[in-house]
Amino acid sequence: QAPAYIRAISPYIPGKPITELARQMGIPVEKIVKLASNENPLGMSPKARKAVEAALAGVERYPDQFDLIAALAERHGVATGQVVLGNGSNDVLDLAARVFLAPGRSAVFSRHAFAVYPLASMAAGAECIVAPAKHYGHDPAAMLAAIRPDTRIVWIANPNNPTGNFLPQAELRAFIDKIPADIAVVLDEAYTEYLAPADRADTVAWIKDLPNLIVTRTFSKIYGLAGLRIGYAVARADVADLLNRVRQPFNVNNLALAGALAALDDHGFVAESFELNRRGMEQIVAGLKRLGLEHIPSHGNFVTFEVKDGAAVNGKLLQQGVIVRPIGGYGLPNHLRVTIGLETENARFLEALEKSL
Ligand code: PMP
Repeated sequence: QAPAYIRAISPYIPGKPITELARQMGIPVEKIVKLASNENPLGMSPKARKAVEAALAGVERYPDQFDLIAALAERHGVATGQVVLGNGSNDVLDLAARVFLAPGRSAVFSRHAFAVYPLASMAAGAECIVAPAKHYGHDPAAMLAAIRPDTRIVWIANPNNPTGNFLPQAELRAFIDKIPADIAVVLDEAYTEYLAPADRADTVAWIKDLPNLIVTRTFSKIYGLAGLRIGYAVARADVADLLNRVRQPFNVNNLALAGALAALDDHGFVAESFELNRRGMEQIVAGLKRLGLEHIPSHGNFVTFEVKDGAAVNGKLLQQGVIVRPIGGYGLPNHLRVTIGLETENARFLEALEKSL
């Protein structure tokens, strides 16, 4: 029988699959608008596509992480031994949990924080301590107060999903400075590329003074490679070494490695994706205001808004072929999260939403 701490895990519920909804509602697949999983509506960068196609030629060989690790190390100004690749950044979150957590240890995170923190922590047998949120976002004082002598990880999502909240970098740094050095701080920056330039900071550079800091990034969001599953962590070499000890040797496949390497250099695609998101955010926020709905100001590629009855509105959106993300599992049953899509998708979402209220 599985240990009680495994049986206590609530399964992760992904966005509703397009094909399933199409079949259920009798709507053609191409008419479905899926704005549920914070994916890049532009798809993948053309350069990445070419590289992935070329990499098909080598799939008989086991993957070699050397080139991508070297490119990431150069990008971040760190040694190659400080970069750890994951099968999506979820994989590196899980590596951190397996390295630092165990039964008898605890992990601290904020209420309404990303769902994988409790999953990874519980799978490692650790206890989860959920600190109260402030305006739906991380409250550093509450998170510090929640730390116990057995705490070994503090999970921080900045910006956070599903709320989109962002801790300004000065506040974030002051917060991390107060976390005892024997606790790993996992700073999850899955959405960092969507931050306004003035909000950005080189958090990886903080690792020099903060030996317990692990920064995680992903290729799933602005780089448009969610389906290839690739992300990474940057940490001090001794911490990276521990993460690598529990990592499966070939955890990232050849196509993902090739795609990520090319995507990393496609600055034009990243800029285009950023701009599309900025405009789409304005479009959706203006639409929500027009409909008299409150939203949580977001720094990501999605926005969370409040309705009277989350389940009912979600059901009516689905009937119209629009998939957004209900977030009752995050303690927000009357909020829905919508990913910023193409202008036409955003417009279809807003039309369908108006009819659903
Ligand atoms: N962190 C946060 C905050 C996220 O929202 C996501 C994606 N939902 C991830 C990490 C993981 O993304 P991936 O595993 O695709 O890199």
